[in-house]
Formats: sequence, C-alpha cells, structure tokens
Amino acid sequence: MDTIIQFMGNEANNDLYIKREDFIPFSFGGNKARKAKLFFEEIDRNRNDCVVTYGSSSSNHCRIVSNMAAVRGIRCIIVSPEEVSENTFNSKLMQLFGAEIVTVPVLQVHDTIEDVLESLKADNYNPYFIQGGGHGNIGTCAYVECYEEIKRYEQENDIYFDYIFHASGTGTTQAGMICGQLINKDDRKIIGISIARKNPRGRQVVLDSVYDFMGNVEGIEDATVFVDTYIGEGYAKGDTYSTVSDVLKKYGIPLDNIYTGKAFYGMREYIKENKISGKNILFIHTGGTPLFFDCLLRGY
Ligand SMILES: *Cc1c(COP(=O)(O)O)cnc(C)c1O
Repeated sequence: MDTIIQFMGNEANNDLYIKREDFIPFSFGGNKARKAKLFFEEIDRNRNDCVVTYGSSSSNHCRIVSNMAAVRGIRCIIVSPEEVSENTFNSKLMQLFGAEIVTVPVLQVHDTIEDVLESLKADNYNPYFIQGGGHGNIGTCAYVECYEEIKRYEQENDIYFDYIFHASGTGTTQAGMICGQLINKDDRKIIGISIARKNPRGRQVVLDSVYDFMGNVEGIEDATVFVDTYIGEGYAKGDTYSTVSDVLKKYGIPLDNIYTGKAFYGMREYIKENKISGKNILFIHTGGTPLFFDCLLRGY
C-alpha cells in the first residue's frame, strides 16, 4: 500500500512533508480505502454475499465500500441519515456503483441497521457489517500499518518527524497512528485535528479505540491529543475554503472543506499558537478528492 511522502517546502519556518493517502490506487484513494481493503479481506475470507454500512451522502467511506462491493458483484446497503443527504460527487458515485441507499432520520439509523441485517438473514443472505468510517480494530490496524510506512521512510531518508498532523473524525486513523507510536516507543506529537466532534467525547472515542486495540499500556493518555478548536462552524467555513485554494496554489495539492482543508487550517493555527519552528512536520493527506470538486463547485 505504501503511499509516497512528498517534501513540500517551508511552512511557517518548518519543513513540511505530506503523506499522500489520497493516492491509494482505488476509487480516488484516501484513508477509507486503506481501511476498507482490510475489511474486504475478511469479507473475501468469510464469503459474505452482501455488505451493510452507514454514512452521509458525502461519505468517502460509503463511496469506497460501495465500489469494492461492486467489484465483487455483491450487494451494498448503505443506511444514511436524511439530515445530510444532499447530492455530492460521492453520492453520485455510490449510485453508479449500484449501492442501495436507505435514508432515515438520524435517530433511526441504529434500529434501521438492525432491521436491514435481520431481513437480509431472513432472506438467506450472509451480510457483513462495517461501522461508519471503517471504525473498529480492523480500521485501527490499517493505520498501524501506515505508521510503519512512515517509520520506514524515516529510516531510509534519515529524517525524524517531530509532529504528525491529520484530520480526525471517527478517530480510527488517529488510534492507529497512536498505537504505532506506542508500539515503537517513539517520542513525537501526533495531533488529530477534529473535523466534527467536541471534547471530551472526541478524545475519549480515540482513547477507547487505542485501549481496544492495545490494552492498557503506558503512555496512552499523553499520546492522545485531539484538538477540537478548528471545527469550522459557520463563518469559519470561509477560512477552510481559503485554505483549500491557498494550498492548491502553493503546493498543487487539492484538499476539501469537510476533512483535509479543516485539518490543514487547524495545523497552521496550531503551529502559530504553539510557536512551533525549525521542526519536521508531516501532514497526512487522508483523501476525499471527490469532495474537493464539491467544494470547488459550491465556492465555499
Ligand atoms: C473519514 C475521513 C477522515 C477521518 O478519519 P477517521 O479515521 O474517521 O478519524 C479524515 N479525512 C478524510 C478525507 C476522511 O474521509
């Protein structure tokens, strides 16, 4: 899976590198492609004949899962909250892949998933359920592997990243990175920039995933930094859009305004507020390329 790490240049007196998870070679890539690959290895082993998951109409996870299901010719059923179901490039792609989308009020998502799984079993299907965003130990494992790639890059290029920044949503990506750090006993800062959740819950979900994967090892609490101050509600969305256009002009790299744009904006603010300078910084580009085009089309 090894994705490239690019040296970008000087970012506020630091050396900035970007790991291009958006280049994972399946369906526009991204962290959901790295996770889904492992889920589908299990699906192939189990010979499941349909997959059930959930997410909004802009979900990268649902795009990837429905494409992987289409490749195998198996049914894909997506339970989606109606509150966030506008048309996006991702939702167009889900339709193209033939995903069956069940739209319900957000409060009914949980029960609807149970009902869908029950009725599939009653019809003699053998469904596989994937949590939203590819949450769970399999998703965490995918990002431990990503961390190992970063370690190899460091060894081969004689460099050490003092900071790693990335967008944090369900927290699985961050949990995997933190587990990788703890396994290797590395001393660096991994900063998850929240794209939605507030603390204390946001950080707690990351912690739960780390404990779930590793058990109770030393250093988990210190290693888990979940920053919830750049979520970008209301007017702050403007900042995200200007970050997206600036990063495209400065580095030639497309971000989006739901995940990576917020994280990049948050990283810049964090660097300023904490007066970080003279460090090697790695930004993980977690993908979401179709969302870049939604952002471009809307202009915010
Ligand atoms: C889902 C997603 C994230 C967040 O990843 P989590 O593992 O859910 O925290 C970040 N960036 C992009 C582009 C995503 O699609």
